[in-house]
Amino acid sequence: MRVSLYELTRGELTELVESWGQSPVHAARIWHHLYWGYADSLEKMADLPARVRARLEAETRVGALPAALETQSSDGFTRKFLLGLDGNRMIETVLMRFTGRVTACVSSQAGCAMGCVFCATGQMGFKSQLSAGEIVAQAVHVAREWRLCAKSNGESPAGGSHRLRNVVLMGMGEPLQNYEAVMKAVDILRDPSGLALGAERITLSTVGVVPGILRLAAERRPVHLAVSLHAATQEGRLALVPVAKKWPLDELIAACRRYSETTGRRVFYEWALIEGRNDSAEDARAVGRLLRGLPAQVNLIPLNPTAGYAGAPSRSEAARRFQHILGGEFALPSTVRQRRGIDIAAGCGQLAGGPGADSARFPAA
Ligand code: SF4
Repeated sequence: MRVSLYELTRGELTELVESWGQSPVHAARIWHHLYWGYADSLEKMADLPARVRARLEAETRVGALPAALETQSSDGFTRKFLLGLDGNRMIETVLMRFTGRVTACVSSQAGCAMGCVFCATGQMGFKSQLSAGEIVAQAVHVAREWRLCAKSNGESPAGGSHRLRNVVLMGMGEPLQNYEAVMKAVDILRDPSGLALGAERITLSTVGVVPGILRLAAERRPVHLAVSLHAATQEGRLALVPVAKKWPLDELIAACRRYSETTGRRVFYEWALIEGRNDSAEDARAVGRLLRGLPAQVNLIPLNPTAGYAGAPSRSEAARRFQHILGGEFALPSTVRQRRGIDIAAGCGQLAGGPGADSARFPAA
């Protein structure tokens, strides 16, 4: 199999080009095509010398992921892409447009083994790990689509306003169960001469894989950490997040404390607000007590509907009350997340391969 260029760090690409007896200048040009031109084929790197292109064509491929399906939310702010991988596997990637910025929500696995009860990806089970290049390719896909969109709106590509601003590893899969590939992808996404997504621009979300959190802390990885909490007791968490059996709540909180102490970063705690389940005043106080003294922010996300879970999103009054208690009684900052892309099943916990995914066909990679 020819190597995907998205699998390579800039250093590795330079080594490859030099191994062909060619100048590293050509590696820099290829890198520019990949991460500034968003080239999705070798044909689009026309300025390279014929001898370099011949080696590229013989030994590599760009690794762009073909889109089998694209859906757009009715408000126009969210676009979801069903992307094809080798072996007829499929993943979903989401472009989220906020005022003045665009965020890519990327997948780290096809499916997921964690089995969170309210999550469509968990309901489909685990299919496979993604490679670093497959993770990077999703971010580039969103960046390319966003630039096309900006251009078609008559915006100038000069000045960088069309560039991708943020990447969240909150799509399909548990990133800390695919640690090596995810961290290599983070390194590629951060490269200052490429997508240049700095430490404040990449957020990794975990359901509570304690060894992965400790490793992130020990390695001082430059990413924001988000932890899906959803319940403030071990019993409550077990009912929603089966992985709590393996890594209980007290171990998870201890790992988060270690992460903050080691990195100096606060942790974002995600809380899917489920009506009548975890949205009472007492639930809010339990969160406040649990996180007391920790550098923390709570992100409240009214539950997004999935076919396999009967729970309903909390009403806005309950969300406001929850937030009021966290801030007023515990001085704990929180946000209520804007719900985006629900009509195209592109919200948190809704990614599952999309309509018609099982029968979608892709061009050969
Ligand atoms: S919420 Fe995340 S960790 Fe849980 S099943 Fe869904 S994708 Fe996996």
